[in-house]
Amino acid sequence: MLPRRHRGFTLVELLVVIGIIAVLVAILMPALHRARDQAQAINCRSNLRQLTLAVLMYVNENHGYLPGPRAIIDPPGDLNNYVYTGAITQADLRPTSTGSLATLGLLKEPRVWLCASDPRLTLGIQFSYTYNGRLIVQPGHDGEDNPPQLTGPLLRKITTFRDTPRDIIFAEENTSTSRPAPINDAFFIYGDVTDDRHNRSAQVSYLDGHAGQIPANVDLYNDHAYFCQ
Ligand SMILES: [Zn+2]
Repeated sequence: MLPRRHRGFTLVELLVVIGIIAVLVAILMPALHRARDQAQAINCRSNLRQLTLAVLMYVNENHGYLPGPRAIIDPPGDLNNYVYTGAITQADLRPTSTGSLATLGLLKEPRVWLCASDPRLTLGIQFSYTYNGRLIVQPGHDGEDNPPQLTGPLLRKITTFRDTPRDIIFAEENTSTSRPAPINDAFFIYGDVTDDRHNRSAQVSYLDGHAGQIPANVDLYNDHAYFCQ
């Protein structure tokens, strides 16, 4: 009777197995990245819907007025500041927890301010979405490209926006310094464009409460195909 030989893998067999695994990983990785990106985009859109719903609840409780940089009762001088935030320091580090949506109890989850695809997340930013600067445009000038801004405490009523299913309220503004006007505050205003954090697109929400996606580098303030007037 022949002795039983205990035989392991040869080097060639091991290399073949490793090669097959490497090929499988190479095939699977793009699909995994796509799945992750899609999950982040879905989550982002949910964030935008929740934020917009909170704004619409605010409108409902405040005689039709949209919330402002802090609240519509802010004294003159604060109105050119930032949305829903506290101390006036570096704009995107200002806490949303002291803003009107949070303090009025309309928004319970601060995490909805943050998009998982926002490349600035590690910098300690407080919000991934910026607010439409046309909320502080003087009445009668809302369709102009460079309208004068309000200086008093009352912002616009939602009824002054003429096309709410197309009027953007929150948007993902440019985060790249390689394009003009990277995000620097909580409003999008002259020269601000959309980011490309979701497959060369940005997510936005509209005044009727729905959320959607538009291309990167759209002029958020003055592109008449998209802007909120
Ligand atoms: Zn996003």
